[in-house]
Amino acid sequence: MTGDINHFIDNKAFVGSPIERHPVYNPATGSVSGHVALAGETDVKKAIESAQRALPEWSQTPPMQRARVLFRFKALLDSHRDELARLITLEHGKVLSDARGGVLRGTEVVEFACGIPSLLKGEFTENVGRRIDSHSIRQPLGVCAGITPFNFPAMVPMWMAPVAIACGNTFILKPSEKDPSVVIRMAELFAEAGLPPGVLNVVNGGKDAVDVLIEDPRVQALSFVGSTPIARRIYEGGSAHGKRVQALGGAKNHLVVMPDADLGQAVDALMGAAYGSAGERCMAISVAVAVGGVGDALVDQLAERVKALKIGPGIDDDVDMGPLVTSAHRDKVSGYVDVGVSEGASLIVDGRDVSFEGGPDGFFLGGSLFDHVNASMRIYQEEIFGPVLCVVRVADFASALALVNGHEFGNGASIFTRDGDCARAFSSGVEAGMVGVNVPIPVPMAFHSFGGWKNSLFGVQHVHGHDGVRFYTRLKTVTTRWPEGIRAGADFIMPVMN
Ligand code: NAD
Repeated sequence: MTGDINHFIDNKAFVGSPIERHPVYNPATGSVSGHVALAGETDVKKAIESAQRALPEWSQTPPMQRARVLFRFKALLDSHRDELARLITLEHGKVLSDARGGVLRGTEVVEFACGIPSLLKGEFTENVGRRIDSHSIRQPLGVCAGITPFNFPAMVPMWMAPVAIACGNTFILKPSEKDPSVVIRMAELFAEAGLPPGVLNVVNGGKDAVDVLIEDPRVQALSFVGSTPIARRIYEGGSAHGKRVQALGGAKNHLVVMPDADLGQAVDALMGAAYGSAGERCMAISVAVAVGGVGDALVDQLAERVKALKIGPGIDDDVDMGPLVTSAHRDKVSGYVDVGVSEGASLIVDGRDVSFEGGPDGFFLGGSLFDHVNASMRIYQEEIFGPVLCVVRVADFASALALVNGHEFGNGASIFTRDGDCARAFSSGVEAGMVGVNVPIPVPMAFHSFGGWKNSLFGVQHVHGHDGVRFYTRLKTVTTRWPEGIRAGADFIMPVMN
């Protein structure tokens, strides 16, 4: 998509009030490919009004009929996967195969949501007391909203909207202003699948648009995915306004390499997990923890592979790593390499010096590898969100576990080992929401739930899976008696079932 990128309200493009527009770049060339509208209060309120209007009818639509719309949407996502992936690559920069993978992982959440008639089945108990029955049901919340980050512009919105909509809510999506086109296209496909106008509205914008969603009393719930400072702000602001909030934040994921691990497998895993998508993944591995004597061989093998990374426009075949999303982000990541050097870490491969195919104006940066990083350094403590891997050397398993657990983030953590005891002790004791054993990026499937611990998630429920259904519904328990005409008189004690 090029040119102006607008909002999508009532199943059609909506230009909105004449306000600011934000440039959207093709990161591989550095050129501006479009301008996205930044919604002000009037535009966001129009989206809320539309969602509120659509709510009575959609919430009363039987779950099976809602599922049929989702089935059609899923088929359209499949037939448009390449087109959606291309939109992602042109605005995000990641390689096409990776973009396709993101669309597929999002589509899997739609597949999960197609099961909503079963997922919403309630519970019934006959005779909780004599001739008294109880049943519990889950009802939609109302108008819900989702605020999503740039790094998975299709997958993360699909963690939220399909589940919320399947549950009978209406939804307002506020995608990242850096790569908004794919969400607009997905909303068009949802409309083509038969989703009634107003059930899914998209508003583009930044903080101003989000503030309206936080404050407007008609919005019942906020799902957020992005950096930790903003996640905290959304959680606190949304909660203060009486909303249900799940806010997923940043990460610093560790992969522990035990001395008995298959080193070749660990190196392959680290390469994909640290440098795939140029490290712009919340589940990227940014710290390798080398246990015992494994450090030298690990760093040697990694160094060869990092130097050989093929970097170029993500749209080309045979590229390992595309550019970063913006020049500002590229400069921030490159600045962290400067910081690491000044902190005394050993810079084994310097990504700042690499030359690239794709022209001088693209937002490219090579892969960097640091050795002898320690826990007091900023490059260890802070989320870099770029192609920079830090190796920390520790003496034994206990020190590795203590290191991981001492970090403020707890999104994902992995261990590579052949020792079952060690793997079990790690899975049980590690303070992270998603754990891998010989799996570098343990992203749960759609029918499980995704979420971190500590400063990687604010709120109780994770996204999609059964937690997603719980988040987007509220529980009601109905107790019923048909008294057969016998009057027992008024009762002034706490009801006791007998
Ligand atoms: P970001 O926090 O800058 O932006 C996320 C969203 O918040 C965007 O839609 C943006 O427009 C909006 N936003 C920005 N500033 C705001 C403000 N002051 N008030 C209200 N809204 C605001 O994040 P990003 O740079 O787009 O994405 C990268 C971050 O997202 C990384 O920290 C990454 O770890 C995190 N992330 C986390 C997960 C997870 O599952 N935990 C998944 C993907 C990305």
